[in-house]
Amino acid sequence: MSEHDASELREESPSEAPRLPHGQGAFVIPLGTSSAIPTLTRGLAATLLARRDGQVFLFDGGEGTQLRFLQSGLSYGKLRRIFVTHLHLDHYGGLFGLVARICMGNTPQEIDLYGPQGIEGFFYQHIGNSLRNAPIVMRFHELDSDFAGVILDEEEFTVSTAPLSHVIPSRGYRYEEKPRPGVFDGAKADALGIPFGPERGKLLRGEAIQLPDGRAVEPQDVVGPERPGAIFAYCTDTRRCKGAVHLARGAHLLQHEATYDGSLGALAKKRGHSTIDHAAQVAAQAGAHTLLAFHFSTRYDERAIREMVKKARAIHPRIVIARDLKPVPILPRPEVGDTVAASAEAGPDLESGV
Ligand SMILES: [Zn+2]
Ligand SMILES: [Zn+2]
Repeated sequence: MSEHDASELREESPSEAPRLPHGQGAFVIPLGTSSAIPTLTRGLAATLLARRDGQVFLFDGGEGTQLRFLQSGLSYGKLRRIFVTHLHLDHYGGLFGLVARICMGNTPQEIDLYGPQGIEGFFYQHIGNSLRNAPIVMRFHELDSDFAGVILDEEEFTVSTAPLSHVIPSRGYRYEEKPRPGVFDGAKADALGIPFGPERGKLLRGEAIQLPDGRAVEPQDVVGPERPGAIFAYCTDTRRCKGAVHLARGAHLLQHEATYDGSLGALAKKRGHSTIDHAAQVAAQAGAHTLLAFHFSTRYDERAIREMVKKARAIHPRIVIARDLKPVPILPRPEVGDTVAASAEAGPDLESGV
């Protein structure tokens, strides 16, 4: 992309942006949910994750990501990290236009991109001028194909990664928020006569205090239980594999590819993909709460997708069909008597690694 006049750029506010579940914790917005080829309703793989603090992360970025991002109602300016699974064009071909667009902004912005070896070269080949002259700082973190482990350890969350099993090196990612302190019960504290000030801070940090009249107050007297952080796993493209189970362990939301229906297991394995049944088995074996299925082959229309998902619910009961631009909160709403279904067996022949 050539030089530009940034003053000509203005924030567009799409009239049909989805209603975003701000205030309910982190959520994801699938931007593309089709496999290999877009359809009129399903774009190529890309998923936004919006954090509670407003930061936005992007997993993959197939062709069309820039436009879908604009339609999502989230701001390019908040994009902070990009995670790329593998170097098939339908998973990264839309990143160049998106990043070049961000380079046109006036605001300093830092973006860290994690992905396979060679991806930095692709960026400089396509949009080197934009990157060199922009006010943004773009850092590339290329990962060896067999690397597994934590790639980000921040105050509030970690991101880890593990190899998956595809026809070329591919990896999945796990975003895990650290637990937050429980809610401070102000009314109870008032009733106990706890003064405003450092005493309340101590209790919130888990320390006991002694009041001037000699009474001891324990943190649990006024602070609720620790609040769990949201866990999201993103696994594509992949056969059913141990890496995906590992990343999805105890996740609240697992976004996993489901290219084929349950009858095409052999074809899926040959092409390095999963059926909806495979995805459901991974979710069940990992004890993931909800499976967000996506990356559907274009051979299936909406009715066929609904049908195959319905059948797979025998393996894992909570499966949500991902739809382009439809936000999905990571933490499920509490359900009475809710338990994670772990009844289904994933089978003994999991593909390991790459
Ligand atoms: Zn692929
Ligand atoms: Zn794919």
